[in-house]
Amino acid sequence: MKKPTHGGTRSDLFESLHDDIVISILCNLSSTASSPSDFIAILHTCKRLNKLGLHPLVLSKACSSALAVRAKNWCEEAHRFLKVCVNAGNTEAYYILGMIRFYCLQNRASGASLMAKAAIKSHALALYSLALIQFNGSGGKKNDKDLHAGVALCTRAACLGHTNALRELAHCLQDGYGVRKNIPKGRRLLMQANASEFSFVIKNKLKPSSNEMDFDSQLFNHGSIQMHQVNRFMVEWFGLKENNVACRGLRMCSNKACGRPETRINEFRRCSGCGKVKYCSRGCQAHDWRLHHKVECAPIEEWMGHAIDDVEEEENMNGVDYVVDDRTVGILGGIEI
Ligand SMILES: [Zn+2]
Ligand SMILES: [Zn+2]
Repeated sequence: MKKPTHGGTRSDLFESLHDDIVISILCNLSSTASSPSDFIAILHTCKRLNKLGLHPLVLSKACSSALAVRAKNWCEEAHRFLKVCVNAGNTEAYYILGMIRFYCLQNRASGASLMAKAAIKSHALALYSLALIQFNGSGGKKNDKDLHAGVALCTRAACLGHTNALRELAHCLQDGYGVRKNIPKGRRLLMQANASEFSFVIKNKLKPSSNEMDFDSQLFNHGSIQMHQVNRFMVEWFGLKENNVACRGLRMCSNKACGRPETRINEFRRCSGCGKVKYCSRGCQAHDWRLHHKVECAPIEEWMGHAIDDVEEEENMNGVDYVVDDRTVGILGGIEI
């Protein structure tokens, strides 16, 4: 560690600060920076801050916003920076790089392994993402689905306060999907998930609005369902022409704030109302229903006519998978409030 200096006739307060104090201030900065530029600007200030700013302790504390990278700016340097943060033990970097490798770079093993490292450190988003990978058998074949593992991961994420994990778990219990069927318990968990969203609204004093869309938008923009920067990255990544998955017959999750693509044909479930949209999870379906799909989905008379036919044929054959059903989500998910 560099020793403080007090030489000369000019007193330099900054130079007199011990490295440990500067590192502690930089840790605070990296953990609260609202964008990478906030952090990088400090690194460019002087040699000392550049050196101490790249200290593993500082990098290990860097928050999600400080690690945000735009898909159009993705390059070897950006990849290397995330790897340095991973090596420093940054849990958020484990998750971000894990998601990018798994979905965008299609390096499934390495991506899942990084997410698992974040999950071990109780990163709720990583636990939930791994749960979806298990539920969908992402990166593998349909038979690679591990419903019990999905439920176990979802349970851990839900215990850490992840609302969508709680919602997913509730549906699993109601449908007996990967867990023994328990409808009353599932219903209770759904109410808990809704209550947790409302308590967030009250805590953050979001303004009640007569316009339901406005209210949901506020919830989305400010809250527990705020778009994580890695989801924004994936939406942008797959929006770029060269990364488009449609040419391979694959679909993106229809929740515009998700960014997950199918990793094999017919991986995601269709909306049983219109059969036009597909979702990676119940959480995405519920979220999109509230913000967009409720007004776009087919009218109920039409829906009654073909709801059963819309279930993927393969799902009907073994009767194992859950059916995405707006009616269930609407009634039990608190969507029709
Ligand atoms: Zn629909
Ligand atoms: Zn999704």
